[in-house]
Amino acid sequence: MNDALKTYIKQYIELESGMQELVLKKCSSLCAQCTSVCCDIVMCVEAIKSPFLKLVHQQADQFDEQNGFLSATGCSLKQGRPSVCYEYFCDNQFYFQPDDLHAEILQTLGALLHHATKDAKSDLPLEDIMQEEDLDLLDFQQLESQMAESLQALDIIRTFYRDGTLTEDARNALKLIQIPEEFDTPAEASAQR
Ligand code: SF4
Ligand code: SF4
Repeated sequence: MNDALKTYIKQYIELESGMQELVLKKCSSLCAQCTSVCCDIVMCVEAIKSPFLKLVHQQADQFDEQNGFLSATGCSLKQGRPSVCYEYFCDNQFYFQPDDLHAEILQTLGALLHHATKDAKSDLPLEDIMQEEDLDLLDFQQLESQMAESLQALDIIRTFYRDGTLTEDARNALKLIQIPEEFDTPAEASAQR
């Protein structure tokens, strides 16, 4: 693994951990009472097919043929979950946001991994590159710049959740984040890509 890929993976883990913390705070109370959990083995499989995600989570041996990575206490992948697992929020999650701005911010939060990894090889995101040796050959300049935008957006969202602050500059920085196409279920999104 070359140094650029190593550095990128470090930042990716920082981004994913930060997103996970905020998404948990915002969504876990509703998810804990959910009777139709949106996790689907179709998405878990992506995490063992993708060489990039495998490098990130290093937990491929914990994949279960019946349940994927879904355990009694939630997802057993600490990191390296497919980006679609963060992009999807059901209607209830949006309904219980205090207002439209919070709903918009939540959607942006869920899109940060997608944004950081998009167009890694022509229009393929990093997690969809299926030859591990190709990862070392990528031009990381664009990926690093997308990663910087996502990390900046994560800081802005953290501050917004903490004290409600959202300056004009912060709004403009959030507008840089590309929101992926919406699907009715995350499994449908996964199947389409
Ligand atoms: S996001 Fe919605 S559908 Fe998915 S587990 Fe949480 S409450 Fe259930
Ligand atoms: S979060 Fe994603 S990877 Fe984890 S159990 Fe759910 S669908 Fe599978």
